[in-house]
Amino acid sequence: MGAVGAQPDRAARLDLVLDRDGPTCIWCGREFSALVHPTTEHVVPRVKGGPSWLANEVAACRRCNAERGHRTPVDWLEECLRRGWPADEPRLVRTLTALAAAIATAGGQRRARPYLDGQLRRLGRRAGGAAGQRTG
Ligand SMILES: [Zn+2]
Repeated sequence: MGAVGAQPDRAARLDLVLDRDGPTCIWCGREFSALVHPTTEHVVPRVKGGPSWLANEVAACRRCNAERGHRTPVDWLEECLRRGWPADEPRLVRTLTALAAAIATAGGQRRARPYLDGQLRRLGRRAGGAAGQRTG
């Protein structure tokens, strides 16, 4: 029992993510279709200790998922915005906030915690300083 108990399999989790967030790529905003395939994106990468939980997953198109590589979600968000893509910053904030809550409930995830906290701080600064956009 609990938010992070037994997790559905990966395909079922992707369906749940699409139900939760809608059928668009979090990064480029394209709607999923026969030509734009949804993939599971781990907000905190697994190599950084991110868990394979629904709370750590969003849907991204194959192109964005592959191009992001090992960049942090905020680095990649900013790159997408620089490219003029309608990256879904509120969705990212919501997901990271919910993941932090899930980790607080479940415990553990010692490697993911500082990474996640750093990302949330950066998003907070973005929200606070959105008027004064700096480049370089
Ligand atoms: Zn995309």
